[in-house]
Amino acid sequence: MATTLTPILSAFWDDPASWTLDTYTRHGGYRALDKALGMEPAAIIQAVKDSSLRGRGGAGFPTGMKWSFMAPPDGGPRYLVVNADESEPGTCKDVPLMMANPHVLIEGVAISSFAIGCEHAFIYLRGEVVHVYRRLLRAVEEAYAAGHLGKNVHGTGVTLDITVHAGAGAYICGEETALLDSLEGRRGQPRSKPPFPGVAGLYARPSSVNNVESIASVPGIILEGVDWFTGMGTEKSTGFGLFSLSGHVKNPGQFEAPLGITLRELLDMAGGMRDPDKALKFWTPGGSSTPLFTAEHLDVPLDFESVGAAGSMLGTRALQIFDETVCVVRAVDRWTEFYKHESCGKCTPCREGTWWLKQITGRLERGEGTEEDIDKLLDLCDNILGRSFCALADGATSPIMSSIQYFRDEYIAHLTPRGCPFDRHASTLFA
Ligand code: NAD
Repeated sequence: MATTLTPILSAFWDDPASWTLDTYTRHGGYRALDKALGMEPAAIIQAVKDSSLRGRGGAGFPTGMKWSFMAPPDGGPRYLVVNADESEPGTCKDVPLMMANPHVLIEGVAISSFAIGCEHAFIYLRGEVVHVYRRLLRAVEEAYAAGHLGKNVHGTGVTLDITVHAGAGAYICGEETALLDSLEGRRGQPRSKPPFPGVAGLYARPSSVNNVESIASVPGIILEGVDWFTGMGTEKSTGFGLFSLSGHVKNPGQFEAPLGITLRELLDMAGGMRDPDKALKFWTPGGSSTPLFTAEHLDVPLDFESVGAAGSMLGTRALQIFDETVCVVRAVDRWTEFYKHESCGKCTPCREGTWWLKQITGRLERGEGTEEDIDKLLDLCDNILGRSFCALADGATSPIMSSIQYFRDEYIAHLTPRGCPFDRHASTLFA
């Protein structure tokens, strides 16, 4: 189910019933929790800080630092909220992780909650994945029955309850403050930051919102140690991650590898392009909200710094591969439709901006645009970027601006009365 250079999160996904407590325990599961419960909470936070683990949800904010930014304990509740609302186009790492190995997440939640002083943690899951919801509920039940959760975790007197909550399927609810609003029972819309959730989060209490993969990486750091973790990856982007390959690739799926691996190496692991006679044309390093890359970027190390220096973002490591049969204008138009549809409408630059972007990409794709439209798109993007309430609208501008940067000629080719020069039937994507 996964190909791995670093068999950690995906080590035993191929075992029969890999998701059960029995399997997890057989592979050493919940030993890290034992070790953590014997440590001072501050020492756990320090270990995660020293590991330089950066958030795996896309933004890459240092996890230990996020925890240490939480307001100091005042006797009231504090919360850990796991962001399992994976919805970025192309992103499909947390769902398989939770399906194949839910207990590594639950153990990570238990350790992280103990570290930050949380007695009630939440896992906020996207609503459409009912199969994952059932799997998590069953795993949480198993963990309670075995004493890994509840009023007396491992007999230490520590309390931890976990509530798994399924949202209703809105992309915006993956934005951490919209997620908190949704969890509180309101319509999910982003809140203004600051205050960050660490100061006023769920029910206005200090909270940490962390991605599934970030929390699932914590047991390994505690059990195996900081040096083990920092021995993988690069100096500043330490550790490993799940890379999701999709699109025109022979064997799409999950590839667990150290940060800093390149797409060329990952493509080798995935058997190459689906049709070896078709050249790679463009790809996303981290979902559609990250600027596109082209064949020129095959050797860019996939770590936060190198991808940034090459003009994009590591994001969610959702590598969507498109070969030469794909019309980039059409792909961008499709993504723009997504952002327009998912805009929550709270702020004007996003609500109006994504609507206008879609009008223009649509008419360009249909062959009804003008050369002026291409510059109008760039001007609109310039007016949206950094001016919206959250990162959704910024994300919408990424594929547009980068596709114009690399494929302006293709936009121009759409201006003829015939419109799109591509044969739609030649491509196996967007058919
Ligand atoms: P962000 O950089 O604003 O924040 C990242 C995290 O760091 C947040 O938890 C935030 O609270 C915390 N943080 C930032 N500054 C802080 C400070 N000064 N003090 C305390 N905490 C601080 O990014 P974001 O808006 O949370 O996320 C954007 C990213 O989400 C994008 O880069 C994209 O890759 C990713 N994304 C992921 C998905 C998915 O399905 N996983 C979907 C959409 C977007």
